Amino acid sequence: MGAGQKTIKQRMSEIMSVRPIPENVACPCFSGEQYGDCCHKLHSGGVAQKPVELMRSRYCAYALHLTDYIIETTDPESPLYEKDLSRFRDDIDKFCRSTKFLGLTILSEDENTVKFLAKLEDMEGHDMSFVEHSLFRKVNGVWKYTKACSLS
Ligand SMILES: [Zn+2]
Repeated sequence: MGAGQKTIKQRMSEIMSVRPIPENVACPCFSGEQYGDCCHKLHSGGVAQKPVELMRSRYCAYALHLTDYIIETTDPESPLYEKDLSRFRDDIDKFCRSTKFLGLTILSEDENTVKFLAKLEDMEGHDMSFVEHSLFRKVNGVWKYTKACSLS
């Protein structure tokens, strides 16, 4: 890591201090926990122990418009990773602004995949829910989201 480059932890704590999110609200990942006891830990620089934790925290980050967190937790080798970061950021922002995040159900998990149902609606109330079987990979010891596995 070069001099002057900030760690995810430093960046996220800056973001969280600019736009603090109350910790005593129900976590937007629908775990039933309070945000402060759930995804806040990862959003403020904690490390996911398992892909399912990362998955939840990413859904939650979309719901809370934590765009940098989404970028930071995407595998740089992923086909979804946009090397042009301002474009990547714009795409995520646009998706966050035009989507209501109404529910997350974990359907199954194993050591490097998670299958989930994301309940989403667009601003006109059209159902955009989907099921995805996601693949995760450790990059330098840290779990990242790689891509959707092909569903068979
Ligand atoms: Zn959560």
